[in-house]
Amino acid sequence: MRLMPVVTMSLLAASALAGAPAPYLLIPGTFEEGRQPDGNSIILDAPGGLIVIDTGRHKVQHDKILAAAKARGKPIAAIINTHWHLDHTGGNQEIRTAYPKARVIASNAVAGALSGFLKDSRKDAEEYLASGEVAQAQKAEILGDFAAMDDRADLMPTDPVTASGKRMIAGRPLELHLARFAATEGDVWVYDPKTRTAYSGDLVVAFAPFLDTACVDGWFKALDQIEASSFVTLVPGHGAAMSRSDFAQWKSAFRHFVDCADSDAPEEQCIAGWKKDAARFIAPLGKRNLDDLLGYYLDKRLRVPPAERNKYCPAARPS
Ligand SMILES: [Zn+2]
Repeated sequence: MRLMPVVTMSLLAASALAGAPAPYLLIPGTFEEGRQPDGNSIILDAPGGLIVIDTGRHKVQHDKILAAAKARGKPIAAIINTHWHLDHTGGNQEIRTAYPKARVIASNAVAGALSGFLKDSRKDAEEYLASGEVAQAQKAEILGDFAAMDDRADLMPTDPVTASGKRMIAGRPLELHLARFAATEGDVWVYDPKTRTAYSGDLVVAFAPFLDTACVDGWFKALDQIEASSFVTLVPGHGAAMSRSDFAQWKSAFRHFVDCADSDAPEEQCIAGWKKDAARFIAPLGKRNLDDLLGYYLDKRLRVPPAERNKYCPAARPS
């Protein structure tokens, strides 16, 4: 059941902004069967040019970003990467080839990822490629990821985010929030106080929380912080924009999924629970099957010994 008063308030707040230019341009991330997704990319206007939040993985997404910049007739002055996952950073190189002065604003977590998670996953991918069983399209995907990983100059921040606070980016005031040990070791979410819009990166993902590099406890702390802001609209890392009531529903769906993982309930029950709780976010995707992804997170990230489950949390980090 929807909470009508909250929805009505959101609509009123949104209409108060009517007449003002749209607060952002969303280039929706792709999510096609048989290949890795692109995260959402967002373009903000600023006095000193354009700000791009997340740059996608595939060329089609990079091309859309560059075309949108061209249509606006302004240079891309800054990239904000909400986190280092390659579906959010893969276009940094293309954008900086076209706009070499573009700053890269991100947390320093990418450094740890390059020597840890990305290094390990690259090794696995190289073995997979060597097996000779890889379809051509998938091979291109993997090689694209390798190219993004190798291009450290465009992956590492020129302007690291090491704490939360206000920043003037290309002449536009924004709040950058650093959530440590959440979906990754350092997630940056952006709050625009002027339009009351939050850009959450993968702290919110419409179809399923991506738990691959997550610290669950830190993630929920980050969601509490987002909730404590005055956002009216939240643009997630993947999926359509959300109202406050959508966000609350998504957060409780995530909590239920983790609680289910921690119970004795059969796996199918946890998967069915997520799909029911998150139905309004999953429905726009069509009939995409999420069971394998959710089953993987249950088997490999949640229903595992504490040392494994918490390996991306601060206390468990090797010194
Ligand atoms: Zn993503």
